[in-house]
Amino acid sequence: MPLLITNATVITGGKTPQILPYTALLIDGALITAIGPTKALEAAYPHADRLDARGQLAMPGMICAHTHFYGAYARGMAIAGDPSENFPQILQRLWWPLDKALDADAVRLSALVSLVDAVKHGTTTLIDHHASPNAIEASLNVISQAVDQTGLRAVLCYEVTDRDGMDKMHAGIEENLRFMQASHDHPRIRGTFGLHASLTLNDEALKACRDALTDGAGVHVHVAEHEADEEDSLRRCGMRVVQRLDQFDLWNGNSIAAHCVHVDETERALLRERGVWITHQPRSNMNNAVGAMDWDGMIAEGQKLCLGNDGFTNTMWADWKTAYLLHKLAHRDPRKANGADIYRVAMVNNARLVEQFFTGQHIGTLEVGAQADLVLVDYQPFTPLTAGNLPWHILFGFEASMVTATMVAGNLLMQDRQLLTLDERAIMAEALALAPRVWENYTRFAHQSLSS
Ligand SMILES: [Zn+2]
Repeated sequence: MPLLITNATVITGGKTPQILPYTALLIDGALITAIGPTKALEAAYPHADRLDARGQLAMPGMICAHTHFYGAYARGMAIAGDPSENFPQILQRLWWPLDKALDADAVRLSALVSLVDAVKHGTTTLIDHHASPNAIEASLNVISQAVDQTGLRAVLCYEVTDRDGMDKMHAGIEENLRFMQASHDHPRIRGTFGLHASLTLNDEALKACRDALTDGAGVHVHVAEHEADEEDSLRRCGMRVVQRLDQFDLWNGNSIAAHCVHVDETERALLRERGVWITHQPRSNMNNAVGAMDWDGMIAEGQKLCLGNDGFTNTMWADWKTAYLLHKLAHRDPRKANGADIYRVAMVNNARLVEQFFTGQHIGTLEVGAQADLVLVDYQPFTPLTAGNLPWHILFGFEASMVTATMVAGNLLMQDRQLLTLDERAIMAEALALAPRVWENYTRFAHQSLSS
């Protein structure tokens, strides 16, 4: 039975968004099949099920271009000892002992708690980058089952690295290949090929990845998040990170380079030439104190810039706001990070990136023929809300807590703030029960890494 969402103020999304008051959307199967005045559509589809939006905004669900479900168990960790001094120390003291601590149960629950957060706060598609060196095989299946259970849309991969030896490096490659194949026909889930970062991949590993990749497949990799990645690459081969990976022919229009905080002009030119997507994670960059990427320079030169959260909460408007503030402060210049650019990156570019993985599907706008991936937002503007000023309403007015309904591919995952596909209390209770074991394992691996 088709569903008619009535009495919505529809924000279409897309490059030139429209705002349509008193509008109805007809959802049939996974798709939006009609948009028009509520009265007209009620008359045309009298037998459709109804969902009265009561004047709320209906807009495309948020997309996160780079995240890490596996980091969920870092929530609330009070790490003993002096705080880490720099990003390499944060990797060694926090993330690498934590990913080693994950078994299949912890992988599943890390994903589920992140996905609950996404449904509640209107993030409908997530591009995840996974690591669990002591549970590599089938880890992407475990995550995929969690995504399937929620009804969300996701692109998954495993971070190949040789930091735990070449056997695990090869296991990572196998996991990517197997899952890319297995997810090929799934309506809402895809696999891609993950690499951790140049600084944890030797030449033999990069060559093995190149040999494993099928034609046209891209990679999803951290690039120059901190200077250490560039210094390591220069030490290894006298080339910078982007050139080094290019030597192994890993860049193409399906590749994602996360961060790119410390890439130089030559690297940027090469990324543009190869058509690589660059994702920005401002909350993470500030937390790790790695610096501010050249947002405005990248926009000006036409880079394919996207927005992610790097494992922070799945409340993407928080990253809109952080990007908006970060670059202004970093340059002491209020002209930086214009709101209209943030809108284009987060709404338009993120959607184009996701569409590349779901060939033939139209994602990220509310129009006839598009996937019904949308949210209802209970936002009451007290100044005019227009297509021209939408970015600044979002930046200064929207909160994730205003999301009351979430739909993906025509399925309602949350309505009136009630989760329909997940039992939040049960998931949180199960995750909490497992936490002591994960944290004990983490502490053990953290001690090992300190003493080695
Ligand atoms: Zn990341």
